[in-house]
Amino acid sequence: SGDNSDLKALIRTIPDFPTQGIQFRDITTLLLDAEGFALTIERMTAMVDGPIDAVAAIEARGFVFGAAIAREIGAGIVLVRKRGKLPGGTVSVDYALEYGSDSLEMHDDAIPQGARVLVVDDLIATGGTVLAAVKLLRGAGAEVGQSLFVIDLPDLGGSAKLREAGVSSDSLFEFE
Ligand code: IMP
Repeated sequence: SGDNSDLKALIRTIPDFPTQGIQFRDITTLLLDAEGFALTIERMTAMVDGPIDAVAAIEARGFVFGAAIAREIGAGIVLVRKRGKLPGGTVSVDYALEYGSDSLEMHDDAIPQGARVLVVDDLIATGGTVLAAVKLLRGAGAEVGQSLFVIDLPDLGGSAKLREAGVSSDSLFEFE
């Protein structure tokens, strides 16, 4: 359906995870639904705007969607990982969380100069995670023009911040 409400209905909401007051949008129930997962990938792939050399997939749920979209469009996959997971030489970026900070890494030879990269994750909230990935990718010479998500939480402002950074942000559906 046009508003993807059929897919939105496959998301489970878990109250108070990981902390009190958070409504966690759980995509595992969508993944369990074979037709729902296939339609998710089909519709996300249809939103890909222009030629892409590589999909940058963000650990961990971004790997699931990013890998399937990359296979559909015939692009390779760059793994953007949490600190300490990658075996080769890495570049990293620190980003602020509500409490403290975290970092993302990728292999320092993952991006051919000027590669057109699409960033994929399951969900965008404040945008901190994806903006950190964009910084990492651009620092390595990538051209990043688009990011794709299953879910946007627009009230948290992430998609607006991405647009300010020159990255369009597309999602299948939103939650308040
Ligand atoms: P942001 O950095 O604030 O945009 O948060 C997005 C990151 O946190 C993504 O990598 C998401 O996987 C994860 N995340 C935040 N909230 C949720 C949620 O409700 N469900 C699933 N993932 C979430």
